[in-house]
Amino acid sequence: MQNNGTLYGTLYIVATPIGNLGDMVPRAIEILQKVDIIAAEDTRHSGNLLQHFCINTPTTAYHDHSDDARTQSLLERLASGQSIALISDAGTPLISDPGYRLVHEARSLGIRVEPIPGACAVITALCASGLPSDRFSFEGFLPAKNTNREQVLAAVKEDPRTLVFYESPHRILASLESVITILGGDRYIVLARELTKTFETFIAGSAQEVLDTLNTDANQKRGEMVLMIKGFETVKIREISQDVERILLLLCEELPLKKAAALAAKITGLKKNALYQLGLELTQPNH
Ligand code: SAM
Repeated sequence: MQNNGTLYGTLYIVATPIGNLGDMVPRAIEILQKVDIIAAEDTRHSGNLLQHFCINTPTTAYHDHSDDARTQSLLERLASGQSIALISDAGTPLISDPGYRLVHEARSLGIRVEPIPGACAVITALCASGLPSDRFSFEGFLPAKNTNREQVLAAVKEDPRTLVFYESPHRILASLESVITILGGDRYIVLARELTKTFETFIAGSAQEVLDTLNTDANQKRGEMVLMIKGFETVKIREISQDVERILLLLCEELPLKKAAALAAKITGLKKNALYQLGLELTQPNH
């Protein structure tokens, strides 16, 4: 890319496996081999992965605590035409991992930033959880302190979307206890453990049931995990009260549905349209 007469290099954001090395995508290997330098969250940790795929590209450390000088030095390399690949310890960089500052600054300077997609624990967990995936909210890690954790949970208590959190083995029990306190023990949850690895497990049930499982089987507390919580279910009109159905049916015996729904709305304070739909379902189930 050309900018102010300079030929800029490209910053590649490269996903790496979250456990199973077979999930490394060919394009990631190709890019990691061809760039001038790899910026890694932990160069020693990534060394094993790079060795496995015969990647001899030089590495440099980059994490969110890196000082401005480190970010500037990477930006200068890019500005001078060098290409850089950013990787994290596992999965997709920037997703609860370092890189935001670098990508933000690179983009604001007009440097090309190219993603190389691959494994990401949020998506891997969600797609096999059986929970609604049409809309979801990724919330990162829950705070370590009880009060902060409970505040975060209280803020999402009535969110109708599936909630996805990253978790660690030493906090999972405390987090489940907070879920029970704030969202209730009967909220349906799925805990995905050790994804893509030998002991991959999905534990599903009410928050209380999942907590009981972890308390009775210490192995289920081990490893990396993603906690998914079913979204808040708005009470359907059917569930509000069986009395509503009874009133509507009685009125329907004497009146056309439209009038019955209007009268039932006055009696119950519920919406006329919703009662009309309910009346249709009750009187003409195959409409
Ligand atoms: N950037 C990574 C990604 O794309 O998934 C996530 C990095 S974050 C620091 C690490 C957290 O991701 C772990 O604590 C765990 O919650 C989740 N995680 C990563 N690998 C996992 C795996 N194999 N199984 C379950 N959860 C995993």
